[in-house]
Amino acid sequence: MALLQIAEPGQSSAPHEHRIAIGIDLGTTHSLVATVLSGKAKVLNDEQGRVLLPSIVHYAEQNTQYGYEAAPFITTDPKNTIVSVKRFMGRSQADIKFQHPYTLVGEANEMPAFETVQGRKTPVEISAEILKKLKDRAEASLKNEINGAVITVPAYFDEAQRQATRDAAQLAGLNVLRLLNEPTAAAVAYGLDQETNLSTDRNYVIYDLGGGTFDVSILRFSQGVFEVLATGGHTALGGDDLDRLILKWAKKQLDLEHLDDEEYAHFITAARRAKEALSDKESVELKILDHSLTLDRPTFEEIIKVALDKTISVCKRVMRDAKLELDDIQNVVLVGGSTRSYAVQKAVREVFNQEPLCTINPDEVVAIGAAITADQLIGNSKNGSLLLDVTPLSLGLETMGGLVERLIARNTAIPVARRQEFTTYQDGQTAMLIHVVQGERDLVDHCRSLGRFVLRGIPPMTAGQARIEVTFQVDADGLLTVSAQETTSGVKAHIDIKPSYGLSSEDTERLLLEGYKYAEEDKNLRHLQETKVEAQRELEALNQALKVDAKLLSEQQLNDLNAATAQLEQELQGTDIKAIESAVEQLKIHSDAFAALRMNQHIDAALKGTKLDDWSNSN
Ligand code: ADP
Ligand code: MG
Repeated sequence: MALLQIAEPGQSSAPHEHRIAIGIDLGTTHSLVATVLSGKAKVLNDEQGRVLLPSIVHYAEQNTQYGYEAAPFITTDPKNTIVSVKRFMGRSQADIKFQHPYTLVGEANEMPAFETVQGRKTPVEISAEILKKLKDRAEASLKNEINGAVITVPAYFDEAQRQATRDAAQLAGLNVLRLLNEPTAAAVAYGLDQETNLSTDRNYVIYDLGGGTFDVSILRFSQGVFEVLATGGHTALGGDDLDRLILKWAKKQLDLEHLDDEEYAHFITAARRAKEALSDKESVELKILDHSLTLDRPTFEEIIKVALDKTISVCKRVMRDAKLELDDIQNVVLVGGSTRSYAVQKAVREVFNQEPLCTINPDEVVAIGAAITADQLIGNSKNGSLLLDVTPLSLGLETMGGLVERLIARNTAIPVARRQEFTTYQDGQTAMLIHVVQGERDLVDHCRSLGRFVLRGIPPMTAGQARIEVTFQVDADGLLTVSAQETTSGVKAHIDIKPSYGLSSEDTERLLLEGYKYAEEDKNLRHLQETKVEAQRELEALNQALKVDAKLLSEQQLNDLNAATAQLEQELQGTDIKAIESAVEQLKIHSDAFAALRMNQHIDAALKGTKLDDWSNSN
């Protein structure tokens, strides 16, 4: 009888199936979706042949509209027409300092919701609607179910903003393979991760000038991993500002003082068209209402110089932050619709002294890189080298004295797990507060608090006896889980870090810069704090001992000990390390004597009446 065949678990008997994975660029003003077909990445369009989906959702009483269809309501129904929802993702009311026409509801320290005619809509829900639209588009155009997606996020997005993005994707019914940094995606689109010579590091600048935002990142590709060396940018500088500069110029040319709303709309549209046309032409005609103007390239360059200069000075600053010279940069990649402008390309070429990469459509390059990564992650690509990402800021926890113990350093390749043992500070301590922080500084107060939890049920033991294992785990999306376990009893506690508020890009940048700037100062502060904690621990132990055995001391000895204690307590109020250290030395002389007496007594007890002195003398 023939034997029946059973397949290996997890291996299907069917031939290899091509699985469908998509990459989504969830942009502030535009979003789009791409996929890899027959080994080639391509963007997917809607039924009207449009690739970009404006990131706009309009809530009406009866229906919801998206993209181009929602755009006209920005002026007629601004409160119910949500634009730039990305700026609200993972942010609390308190973080939202920019102007907007919306009514936001919710607690100050949580992500607020938009009050619309359809009720409350959170930024996560609104983003989910945009993602769902793109998912539907992909399903319709590929005539297939989508198996997985890679969604891009700005490099400076923190835990909260990433978590919010991931939640939105799940709400849209997408299986998120990974969140990918936008600049990393752009680098992948140009195949910069396919560098085969792994012995030398390569550095790339990603210059992203979109409609309303400017981001520049410096990436290092080293040993198959992209690190973010530095980021910088402006949250309110983009193509829209170039339009406004042209409008200002036009008003001046025509000697116009004030424009009403309708005139303004005509002017700004004409300005934008002129700007875009100048990317192919030497000179353009602006026809606005009954006015007519000519704008040539030299004049245009003059007009927008102020905005481009700002981007250039940010580029120079991030180069300094990354401690790189022009010669260290192998490639500059252009991203964002505004980099189509010849004037932007020229400015970038001049500052980096090389020809920037711009052969891939700058609107599409991020989605293309996301699609290529998605294809690899889902297992279609034969390409073995899988792209890794890194943690943007260091992760650690608070130890005694308000110090940060870093478990995972910034720029560590993810996914990653790190474990470290900690112990109790006091005798009989049965609970421990685990406070998780993010940042580059040594003191907790200078870092950002991500969350806290308490490990309870530690069996009472002498201080320093308990063994508490704390594990930090960052998954491939950069999301963190922290767990703690007391090893003898096995009691456990854990937390998924899902903070309800986020850090602004400026804040992340500030935390990084401060980390560099204060490195020396922090080292001294850390030393001071550690010295203080150690001294306090000794005082605490001494107090405990005195409670039990003070009677062993003569009056003189007790006075000396008390005087030394008082001296140390006084020095602990100050910040003079040397003084604290010498007070500790002084105290040690007396406390060591006391410790010897105590030891004697214990041995006495053990030897049942035989004094240590007698015993040693008897030899
Ligand atoms: P975001 O990333 O913020 O969603 P985009 O990358 O889509 O924005 O860029 C939109 C900007 O690109 C707009 O300001 C638009 O005017 C500008 N833009 C589009 N095409 C051109 C062009 N040919 N020349 C100059 N600017 C352009
Ligand atoms: Mg963009």
